Amino acid sequence: MLMKNIMYCLRSSVLMIFLYALSGCVGSETHFSAAHVSFDEQTVPVAILGGGVAGLTAALYCSQANIPCVVIEGHKPGGALSQSHSVRNWPGVAQAPGHDIVDSMRKQVAAGGVPIKQEMVIGVDLKQWPRAIQVADCADGAKTRTLKALTVIVAMGTEPNLLGIPGETGANGYWGRGVSNCAVCEGALYKDKVVAIVGGGDAAITEADYLADIARKVIILVRKDVFRAKDLKSKDKALSRSNVEVIFNAEVKEVIGDGKTVTHIVIHDNKNNTDDRMALDGLFLAIGSRSNTALFKNHLQLDERGFVVLKNRQESSVKGVYAAGDVADYEFVQAVTAASDGCKSALQAIKFLKDCGFESSMLKSSRPLPAHEAETQDHGLVHEIKSAQDFQRLVLEAKKPVVIDIFTTWCIPCQKMMPIVQNLAAALKNRVTFVKINASSQDIDIDVITRKLQGQQLQSVPTFVFVKQGKEIGRMIGARDEAVFEKAIKQAFTME
Ligand code: NDP
Repeated sequence: MLMKNIMYCLRSSVLMIFLYALSGCVGSETHFSAAHVSFDEQTVPVAILGGGVAGLTAALYCSQANIPCVVIEGHKPGGALSQSHSVRNWPGVAQAPGHDIVDSMRKQVAAGGVPIKQEMVIGVDLKQWPRAIQVADCADGAKTRTLKALTVIVAMGTEPNLLGIPGETGANGYWGRGVSNCAVCEGALYKDKVVAIVGGGDAAITEADYLADIARKVIILVRKDVFRAKDLKSKDKALSRSNVEVIFNAEVKEVIGDGKTVTHIVIHDNKNNTDDRMALDGLFLAIGSRSNTALFKNHLQLDERGFVVLKNRQESSVKGVYAAGDVADYEFVQAVTAASDGCKSALQAIKFLKDCGFESSMLKSSRPLPAHEAETQDHGLVHEIKSAQDFQRLVLEAKKPVVIDIFTTWCIPCQKMMPIVQNLAAALKNRVTFVKINASSQDIDIDVITRKLQGQQLQSVPTFVFVKQGKEIGRMIGARDEAVFEKAIKQAFTME
């Protein structure tokens, strides 16, 4: 009888241990007990990596639940949706630019007290707990810190693919000088010009439809003899436009230019095995993207394409680490599915924290920032020119040298440069005036501006025009780090 009882107890214990392991209730494991964490000002209950729709939705749900979190927004504030010129499938909004949607999400999240940091993730260690997330300031990469995160939501989206052909990128390439992957960012520069789009997916169709309103001619170059695009209604609409042409079996082999901007491309006809040159002014790439997960390679289970493998409801292979949006989705890739993933990830993270015994009172030194602090800095020192009168007063009649930051609303390198421009405007405020002009705004005709400054036509954004006594004396095209930009300004105005 005694033996029978002992056997029964043993069996029950084994069963209990087995059920416990299955339950996934990590809260009572000492390993995940918040009581054993030494909280300091770098400790965050939820680190949200990525400031697109998925990350911002996760932040919204955390702030609504009163769980402190931080958004590391990376170098693409607003993520992929901010590059979409016309979103028609965001519930409750008939039609809006993607930028407007993410901008209002961002404001809502910041108003809830969530810090949105202009930092990028440069390293992770998910083997320890709290998880170590190393981040660097987007404007000054030398400024780094390591967050200690009790839970992590990976929402870093994707990076667009490149062709990898001569003349595309690099020192002799035309990236930003006629080659781009964002029609919304740079399309305004191709008024009445000829442009080609590479790709046969939905993005190529969207870009073609957008550019057809601006350019004289839009040629879609599809490498197969069929489109991959799924949205047939949008495809038919774009292809029915009189200035849109399609060339199938066409592979771009080289980009050729005159040293300043693109003039031609070499196209290989893979059916007839012939090469041909085509004259054009701009080349837009819409050839898909790859998941932004290189940093997680040795930490999270990824599939063969690099997407985060999800277990159950946004759970990654590591406890308390969730993935949301395009980083784990090659199938739907929609803003609304990214928002849904963000919501589920946040609810999962909150549950994990609860299971760990986390309470907000454990955060002694860190606190949610009040809305006015959490909102990213206003560009107070950098006046935006919105009328001919502003331009006359602030640029043509300026006593000090002027740096004009010409940007477009959806241009990611432009957004990346904004904190740098702000820093330099503060540092040089007694010697240089900084202004900015939105080239995609209806208020200002950028060709008139460049003519008045007796400068060249605008080719790309961001462009920084250096003006002295009402005349352009130089310019810098594209994003640079702060030190390089400062040096260029000082050289232009002989300030050393
Ligand atoms: P896709 O992967 O769907 O399409 C990429 C296209 O680029 C394909 O036609 C592919 O050709 C081509 N391509 C890839 N590499 C090369 C290369 N080296 N040279 C030439 N062509 C190349 O990417 P998208 O960015 O278009 O779309 C991604 C996802 O987002 C999809 O799920 C899409 O449905 C969704 N999306 C939806 C939109 C909407 O609903 N309006 C808008 C934009 C995107 P091939 O077919 O030969 O491989």
